[in-house]
Amino acid sequence: MSKVFDLFIIGGGINGAGIARDAAGRGLSVCLADKGEIGGATSSWSTKLVHGGLRYLENYEFKLVRESLKEREIVYKIARHISKPIPFIIPYADKIRPAWLIKIGLFLYDNLGGKSNIPKSKTFDLTKKFPNILKEKYKTGFQYFDIQIDDKKLTKLNAKDAKRNNAKILEYNKVNKAEIIGNEWIISLENDEKVKSKILINASGPWINETLIKNIKIKSKKKIRLVKGSHIITKKLYKENVAFTFQNTDKRIIFVIPYKGKFSLIGTTEVEVKSPENKGISKKEIRYLIQSVNNYLKKQIRTKDIVDTYSGIRPLIEDFNTASKVTRDYVFDLKIIKKLPLLNIYGGKLTTYRKLSEKVLIDLRKFLPKTKKGPWTDKKKLF
Ligand SMILES: Cc1cc2nc3c(=O)[nH]c(=O)nc-3n(C[C@H](O)[C@H](O)[C@H](O)COP(=O)(O)OP(=O)(O)OC[C@H]3O[C@@H](n4cnc5c(N)ncnc54)[C@H](O)[C@@H]3O)c2cc1C
Repeated sequence: MSKVFDLFIIGGGINGAGIARDAAGRGLSVCLADKGEIGGATSSWSTKLVHGGLRYLENYEFKLVRESLKEREIVYKIARHISKPIPFIIPYADKIRPAWLIKIGLFLYDNLGGKSNIPKSKTFDLTKKFPNILKEKYKTGFQYFDIQIDDKKLTKLNAKDAKRNNAKILEYNKVNKAEIIGNEWIISLENDEKVKSKILINASGPWINETLIKNIKIKSKKKIRLVKGSHIITKKLYKENVAFTFQNTDKRIIFVIPYKGKFSLIGTTEVEVKSPENKGISKKEIRYLIQSVNNYLKKQIRTKDIVDTYSGIRPLIEDFNTASKVTRDYVFDLKIIKKLPLLNIYGGKLTTYRKLSEKVLIDLRKFLPKTKKGPWTDKKKLF
């Protein structure tokens, strides 16, 4: 146990893997441990969109949407082989949101992120464009584009690139304990190995406070809100390569997205949970998703049409809003304990992982004075 790493990262989800890549590429020595597979938790249970988050505009989250739209452009550029733009149609639904509000939202969505290679939004007649998919009462559609990505692969490619730059990446190796002895963090792993580090980063997603309290033995002032999101997968519901954004009467939205060529991915729900352990979809969530699809599509689906399901737990920062309004932004909580830094990463989205990682390195710069290289991950392709 002689080597002292610059950074030790708990958690190999998209945020941990992204930080490891960025740091290792700057010449820092990095060790990351995950209790499971890299990208095997929340980062493979998402809706798999790199998106600005059109609906966050309704909550006035302009900063988050702007950053996400800029990141959408960059992630599409550096991970083009695992991502593709896909058109989303919002059918106009009477009494849910007025057309003018959707149009203002889409105008902002087209322009907030600056110059873009992704097509702009437009309005068209649904009865001419998709006469066979939607029920006749849906006559007007608003189209915008977002990026569909392989979320797990994105996470794995980040970890792979970190490894290429000499990071030590450990899977199926839980961090049992992290404590300061002398001038270093000593991290005790499940396989009895002990690792030394100057800086500790807690990127354990929905387990963040559990890791902090049980494994690092530090009290957290920041509260996290755990919100389960579930998806159902059916055989392809229509042949056209188009996704739909359905507005529900509770004002929530549901996506129906072409998935892996043969399937449709439908999600998601928002259910508050107490534990980060993933218990999967409930019957109530299944009913909600089916109902939402059946309100819009001519083809009606039933439980027996479901070929698979998955759920994930969103680790959101508590801001005392309702589940669908809680911010998807991220917050850093930097603590100095006995002169050594501990950085806790709260919240975040798949879409913003690269920027989040870059900001981590900026915030830790003063503890790593020998680092010469600046930001680099916006230009180098993932492979
Ligand atoms: C249903 C749903 C849909 C979503 N859709 C989108 C979307 O379309 N677009 C988007 O941008 N974002 C989306 N998100 C958000 C996005 O998926 C998450 O913000 C992101 O994946 C969180 O990554 P993370 O690295 O923080 O957490 P995780 O991926 O959960 O990673 C944390 C890791 O820490 C590990 N860990 C925990 N405790 C320990 C320990 N003691 N020792 C070692 N390892 C430990 C876990 O095994 C895990 O792998 C969605 C989220 C959900 C739940």
